[in-house]
Amino acid sequence: MKILILNAGSSSIKYQLMDLEDVHHFTLPAFGLVEKIGESMGRITHKTCVNGLNSTIVEESPIPTHTEGMARVVALLTDADKGVIREASEIQGVGHRVLSCGEVYTDPVLIDDQVKAAIREFFPLGPLHNPPNLMGIEVAQRFFPNAPQVAVFDTAFHQTMPPKAFLYAVPYAWYTDYRLRRYGFHGTSHKFITAATAEYLGKPVEQTSLISIHLGNGCSITAVRNGKSVDTSMGVTPLEGLVMGTRSGDLDPAAIEYIMEQTGMNIHDTTNALNKQSGLKGICEVNDMRDVVEAAAGGDQMAEIALQMFTYRIQKYIGAYMAVLPKLDAIVFTAGIGQNSFPVRARICDGLEHLGIRLDIQKNMASADNTREIQQDGAPIQLLVIPTNEELQIALETKQIIDG
Ligand code: AMP
Repeated sequence: MKILILNAGSSSIKYQLMDLEDVHHFTLPAFGLVEKIGESMGRITHKTCVNGLNSTIVEESPIPTHTEGMARVVALLTDADKGVIREASEIQGVGHRVLSCGEVYTDPVLIDDQVKAAIREFFPLGPLHNPPNLMGIEVAQRFFPNAPQVAVFDTAFHQTMPPKAFLYAVPYAWYTDYRLRRYGFHGTSHKFITAATAEYLGKPVEQTSLISIHLGNGCSITAVRNGKSVDTSMGVTPLEGLVMGTRSGDLDPAAIEYIMEQTGMNIHDTTNALNKQSGLKGICEVNDMRDVVEAAAGGDQMAEIALQMFTYRIQKYIGAYMAVLPKLDAIVFTAGIGQNSFPVRARICDGLEHLGIRLDIQKNMASADNTREIQQDGAPIQLLVIPTNEELQIALETKQIIDG
């Protein structure tokens, strides 16, 4: 089944065309990124892989709106010479990554007017993502009028959290009247990792308990008990929890008023600084973990402190989640940093031997693109590195809905 997976941002559209049977049988004939929509010069990077031959097309021209961007994507996909399909109608389903639907949907849904209304209702809680996500849906509906469109929500996997985990200890009416609660994000990734861990361990998902650590541009950690999310580090927005590339993670809420008074910044600029000028970047001025690790190795003190803060916060969450999970099958590292940075994994595990976390230094350093174990032989807790694939998860869920 040919499925187009879309992730529409405010000035970008990420896309993948997948041809899939199931989690182990799929190909990726084309994928790419439309960026700088609405700016004076836009760019499309379109990659294809046909019969083992890879090619890349880069186009630069103004792309005034998402509609023009999608028109270019369709033209590239169906190009008589370099296209991977003959016509747009070959696409049998479109899966959309959507940030949040609050508590309305706990699973992926076939998009209709009611679903669009629910996505719109959550604009205030996902102001950067939900509006462009909805725009992406409306544009795709125009280009692929006969293909079922499915919304896969980043918050859905965490809807199994109990109230003690999802409520904030604030006036209860803030929850009932304004829906203020922990929603959690990266749900598509944590769900994929949960299924992949269960499969790797040869256990049913509903008997698999793990701590899933997603460390990418955004970072989050989830406690999964018997296949279900029971707690996660991100909150009402993706700002809470771990130290991230540019986001602060956990912070005393009173710090906000204090720093506004001291600097004269308004609330918008302060929140913006917590999202974009904080985290690793706030401490050592760079946010790409490769640069931080390199700088720390070269003796940069601030990079060293940033790295310590990043890994120490993760250690604290591991401790907390081990306390609330009565059994633990595995701790799993995933996403850009989790999959690739052996020094970061080593620092996270360092000093946690008393919890049964015993890293094998050699296994940790071996690089590979597939699922692998990195714990010492005979260690009580399995430590796994599993590449996440959120697009594949979205495609699988889209196919499931279409297959009924
Ligand atoms: P993601 O959001 O999963 O694509 O992760 C992107 C982030 O992963 C980048 O910003 C880098 O900080 C980080 N990353 C990717 N490769 C490496 C690597 N080899 N070592 C350390 N960090 C990496």
